[in-house]
Amino acid sequence: MTQDTAPLPAALTGIVTTDVSAVTRGRFVPASRLPGVMESGIGWLQANLSLTPFGTIADPNPWGSTGDLRILPDPGARFLARGTGSETPFDMMIGNITELDGTPWPCCTRSMLADALGALHAATGLSMTAAFEHEFQLFGHDLPQAHVLSFAGLRRADGFAARLVSALSEAGVDPEVIISEFGRDQFEITHAPAPALAAADRSVAIREITRELARNLGWQASFAPKTAPDAVGNGLHIHFSFTDDSGAPAGFDPAGPGRLSAKAGAFCAGVLRHLPAILPMTASSVPSYLRLKPHGWSASYTWLAEQDREASLRICPTVSLGGKDPAKQFNIEFRAADSTANPYLALAAIVRAGLEGLRAELPVPPLVTGDPEAMSPQERAAKGLHRLPGTLPDALAALAADPVVSGWFPPVLLETFHGEKEAEIAHLAGMDPEEICRLYRTLF
Ligand code: GLU
Ligand code: MG
Repeated sequence: MTQDTAPLPAALTGIVTTDVSAVTRGRFVPASRLPGVMESGIGWLQANLSLTPFGTIADPNPWGSTGDLRILPDPGARFLARGTGSETPFDMMIGNITELDGTPWPCCTRSMLADALGALHAATGLSMTAAFEHEFQLFGHDLPQAHVLSFAGLRRADGFAARLVSALSEAGVDPEVIISEFGRDQFEITHAPAPALAAADRSVAIREITRELARNLGWQASFAPKTAPDAVGNGLHIHFSFTDDSGAPAGFDPAGPGRLSAKAGAFCAGVLRHLPAILPMTASSVPSYLRLKPHGWSASYTWLAEQDREASLRICPTVSLGGKDPAKQFNIEFRAADSTANPYLALAAIVRAGLEGLRAELPVPPLVTGDPEAMSPQERAAKGLHRLPGTLPDALAALAADPVVSGWFPPVLLETFHGEKEAEIAHLAGMDPEEICRLYRTLF
């Protein structure tokens, strides 16, 4: 049989989960087995949560070699696309990790996000809508250089951008805009806002579909926060907004500071209060902290601002062109994240922090304009501006030192998280920033 007439291999569906090292892992099943898998899931194990991006298991870890779990796929979280250039369709179903009897496993990060969103709703009546904005760079290609943000910058990779958008559309990710970004060979892809759990699922799908498509062109798409110490960072900007039970926007108040409703303001205050401690869950690797520096349009202070791309929480603009309703567009962008973070854990931490602010009815934090680096320490303190932890070890220490944040997570999850991060840090001992960036470039 020649290659042309050979039947395509039967498609496989990947049943996946994303671990604390932000790697999406799972097992594949043939279509014929899917109905059974939808009922009772596929096998998984506790120790997998302690896997590092280097193909090792963090040692020590709380799990050892014993124990079994299931990944129960969520039929609403299936991403199926034929257009990634692969021989068989991209078919990924994201699941929740359960015990063998279907009881939720307390360390399943996707369940943690669902629980955090449930707690937010139960306490406040608020539902969150979110969108994950990803930046990434292409490597291994022989594309000609192009001006940043340019028309030619996107067109030179003809095929790639259009294929990516169409594969994401086919998979139900609802992509919005793709641009050639400010960094060398850097691109950005956005998706339409979705209920927060679905948005985190989309984040996983975007990373995997983008990587697969690039791979099929012989390239590598890297979402690493810094691909070289002096390169422009690849951010993951998490946009969020709120609705009430009638579906009406609940974060917008034209009379509020920065047009934030009292509830949205309290949420932001909670996020900023706990930002140093949640940082390891949103900026989760050693190179993340090469990105979180002043003047890189990332985030480096506990800072809420209107439209300022240096702020950690940026109140996004609304458009009145075409008679658009600002209330429906109004959203806040969390900028201190990157794609070495597990999107479920990152958003769960943001939601829990915001909920603390809501429970305490915290006032809207000061809206700060200007460059914190140009302010005196007294001025910064008066405005509530505190420098974010400058390294992953410092961020982990901030997490350990905040009993409120630790209280949101099962102790064994925190033990796993710290253990995995310590293993990443230990693996990098003796490497200079250049080598660390190069390594993470290939891993993420
Ligand atoms: N590349 C920047 C970052 O690391 C963001 C640039 C932008 O505002 O889009 O977050
Ligand atoms: Mg951008």
